[in-house]
Amino acid sequence: MKEDTIIVSSGRDKKYTHGAINTPVYHASTLTFDTVKDMKRANANRHKGGLSYGRRGNPTTYALEEAMCDLEGAEGCFLYPSGLAAITGAILSFASAGDHILMADGVYEPTRGLVNKMLTRLGIETTFYDPMIGPDIAGLIRGNTRIIFTESPCSVTMEIQDIPAIARAAHARGVLVMMDNTWGTPLHFKAFDHGVDLVIHALTKYIVGHSDAMAGCVTARAEHMQQLFDMSYQMGYCLSPDDAYLALRGLRTLKIRLQQHEKNAFEVAKWLDGRPEVDHIRHPAFASCPGHEIWKRDFTGANGLFSFVLKQGYEAATTAMMEGMKHFKMGFSWGGYESLILTYHGIDSYRTVTGWAAKGPLVRLHVGLEDVDDLIVDLEQAFERFNQNL
Ligand SMILES: *Cc1c(COP(=O)(O)O)cnc(C)c1O
Repeated sequence: MKEDTIIVSSGRDKKYTHGAINTPVYHASTLTFDTVKDMKRANANRHKGGLSYGRRGNPTTYALEEAMCDLEGAEGCFLYPSGLAAITGAILSFASAGDHILMADGVYEPTRGLVNKMLTRLGIETTFYDPMIGPDIAGLIRGNTRIIFTESPCSVTMEIQDIPAIARAAHARGVLVMMDNTWGTPLHFKAFDHGVDLVIHALTKYIVGHSDAMAGCVTARAEHMQQLFDMSYQMGYCLSPDDAYLALRGLRTLKIRLQQHEKNAFEVAKWLDGRPEVDHIRHPAFASCPGHEIWKRDFTGANGLFSFVLKQGYEAATTAMMEGMKHFKMGFSWGGYESLILTYHGIDSYRTVTGWAAKGPLVRLHVGLEDVDDLIVDLEQAFERFNQNL
């Protein structure tokens, strides 16, 4: 099946839907059995959709797992109650005391918090690396390195990593490659084809797509499923059927939403590129974004999320800018149908190896599905407030 067909059809087998178009929401903790044999079979066949107990999955969550597997080209998928839980689940499934992790310096900030705090406490050491390192990552791999954790583009600062080069160096030394592929989505970055072993998504973003549910997933090859399963089982990770339903429902329109987000964001970014206040654009499709050439080589598209760096401006100016917005609402997260804005001062406070050369603040936009003309008027007025408060 081609991708557009998978998006529409996958996870809609009659065994899940009973003929309805969308897989129903199955609310269940307890499941009952007629025979002891049935009960034992259900318990043993978790990977094959056995129904034994609510925490271990139900038809709504199995349908979503199946759809994510088909889209990523994976052999297995586990769901988590948030994207961050998927990250912790993946890492804790494979790292033990005494192990070493290599992590991109521009990862999603809570991922950094996990390794710096909890994993340090558990005796797992992490070294951060420059996201632009490419094949030179080989020099950082130690005898006890277990995982290279990547995210591309990086959160907020948008550097695009050479994942194939990093994966080659990792695999030469038997190191696992994990990737937070939330920005790329299964449509725009084929992570397994580029050498990633475990692919993580915050489904909360474009898959749910409507800013009304939290969910995460890890997709992997069969050889890694048992360890992921054991960790989920021991930690009690599961996803509510209501949120699985919302993720499945959002998934059906993922492709067409992404196309419009990409188009709108590109137009907004082009307009920003001509503004005198803007130092440079950090959108993977722009040459000013570190790793732009890698993005052209490895990705098949962009979306609504990008950043830009201002030439100057303290908090008074960015506060005035953000507080008067009509369409770009101030808020964390992204991937819904609506526009969002955030500003960052002092990026280097959560960098350890790459620093941050730009003098002015960084603005991150999520460009939604509103009309671009209205969005540009909103930004024009934002710059007026910004300049008045410089
Ligand atoms: C939002 C986000 C996450 C975390 O997802 P939650 O569902 O909010 O826990 C992880 N990685 C990236 C890149 C994200 O943007």
